[in-house]
Amino acid sequence: MRATTKLFAIFGDPVTHSISPLMHNYALKGLGIDACYTRYRLREGALLRQKFFELKLQGVNVTVPHKEAAYKACDEIRGIAQKIGAINTIHLEKGKMIGYNTDAPGFLKSAKRFGEINRVCILGAGGTARALAVAFAEHGTAVSLLNRSSGRLDFFKEQGLQTYTWDMWPGGSFDLVVNTTSAGLLDDTLPAPREILEPLLRESSYAIDVIYNTHTPFIALAEKLGVPVKDGSEMLLFQGVYALELFLEKRYSEARLLPWMQKAFTR
Ligand code: NDP
Repeated sequence: MRATTKLFAIFGDPVTHSISPLMHNYALKGLGIDACYTRYRLREGALLRQKFFELKLQGVNVTVPHKEAAYKACDEIRGIAQKIGAINTIHLEKGKMIGYNTDAPGFLKSAKRFGEINRVCILGAGGTARALAVAFAEHGTAVSLLNRSSGRLDFFKEQGLQTYTWDMWPGGSFDLVVNTTSAGLLDDTLPAPREILEPLLRESSYAIDVIYNTHTPFIALAEKLGVPVKDGSEMLLFQGVYALELFLEKRYSEARLLPWMQKAFTR
């Protein structure tokens, strides 16, 4: 690697499963840019800042479980990430770590491809739910949160959003139901009891599971009920497009970047 070669990475734990290095390296190669994107297993979030500078990185993406730690590690936070309190993209600018959240606009872009979303029901209350809820609320979408426990719902209540635990769920119809829980990632569980999910999906227009590359029980149920559904691949692609634009300090058309990044899903 030449001295001028830019180096980017993804930090997470675990991180071996991530296809971000493939996505970004295909795009960097396609663009003819002298840069490389690697992965780094970061066990302790508290070491994020030190590792970023030690590895001489120009930018990183951050995945589970370090998105909140990344928020704290940055010198400056820009855009919607300030409200979300979690970031997935850091770019080095004049020696400073600048943090962004590209998960939120990435998801919105994917959701809007279904159609207009005026009412959304988000299953789960973790970091991804926060990003999606803040992004939807900023666009004037009515947001309801449904989580198995109450502990993490306070953040959403403070934003003035409707929050429910399973036992309090009143039912309702939505344009979109999103699974942001990890139910179905490594097991065969649904993100909420079937008695809640079946009527919820029947009454709703579209469904998305943010988990990607896995045919989850949530996706299977939506398909069985005839609800148009997609997984988190598109969200991953779009957050990657936005992150790469920040890394390279340049806007590209999606039509240019997506075909290269999509190659990561077809290997
Ligand atoms: P968090 O750990 O922050 O939150 C997990 C949430 O899921 C919590 O609300 C938790 O409920 C709930 N939950 C976990 N297991 C179950 C279960 N078995 N049944 C019901 N609820 C459950 O996770 P993240 O928000 O960081 O990530 C969530 C998922 O999103 C992951 O699978 C991740 O891979 C995916 N993701 C995909 C992206 C993409 O680009 N496609 C981007 C980012 C994330 P409780 O509060 O009760 O514990």
